[in-house]
Amino acid sequence: MKQAIPVIILIILITGCSAVPAYIPPNQGVLPEQDVSFAANESAANEPEIESDIEPEIEALVDTRPMIALTFDDGPSHHTNRILDVLERYGARATFFVVGYNVEEWQDTVRRTISLGSEVANHTWNHPGLTNISNQRIREELRTTSAIIEQVSGFPPPPFFRPPFGLTDRRVAGVSAELGYAIITWTLDTRDWEVRNADAVYNIIMNRAKEGSIILMHDTHITTAAAMERVIPELIARGYQLVTVSELLHHLYGELEPGRIYGTYAFF
Ligand code: ZN
Repeated sequence: MKQAIPVIILIILITGCSAVPAYIPPNQGVLPEQDVSFAANESAANEPEIESDIEPEIEALVDTRPMIALTFDDGPSHHTNRILDVLERYGARATFFVVGYNVEEWQDTVRRTISLGSEVANHTWNHPGLTNISNQRIREELRTTSAIIEQVSGFPPPPFFRPPFGLTDRRVAGVSAELGYAIITWTLDTRDWEVRNADAVYNIIMNRAKEGSIILMHDTHITTAAAMERVIPELIARGYQLVTVSELLHHLYGELEPGRIYGTYAFF
């Protein structure tokens, strides 16, 4: 552990990314004592309430067209549905890395996300820096969050997670491998939580997005939701397919390898 800080700083200098977790997540939940004990909609426990009459116009994946994966962390929140509205309007998809604690409050939003062909993935329960907690805590953070996603949506999340603040190391990767999870970071950081300006978010994406980009955003900011109303149609107009992380990585790598980090932003 004593070696970790200089290594992290070195990588920050090399990549130009600001890794220091100055960002404070919107909620600090409490891990359930055992499994997921919250009382979900009881009728939904065995019968997920996915509306069968919803058949959105979702663009089919075309292997020959360049792909970009939009990703939104830390929700769901009051602003998530505004982003879903835009995705639905343009037949696009995205990946939402949810905090387990928020899923209880936003069950309908989680179900709607999946019904639109987008992806709900694991971003831990309490949003801790995983390099700072025990292996057992890491397991609990990941297992409880996957469990609540499956309980609410009726579908298990994809076999990967995004570590809060992008913080990971060999120990975290080892626990991830043990649980069967790959680790997803990103290739383009909009810093939307810091700039909180729709034009700035739009400009950074339009200037830097390219084929294969995994773009980091947060659906906890109204400015990010507003930016998506311009970003999504503009990326499509430029010829990109907006796909889930699963779709992009399957296209690039085939089956994901548990414990491996996907993305250009990671700490060792
Ligand atoms: Zn986060």
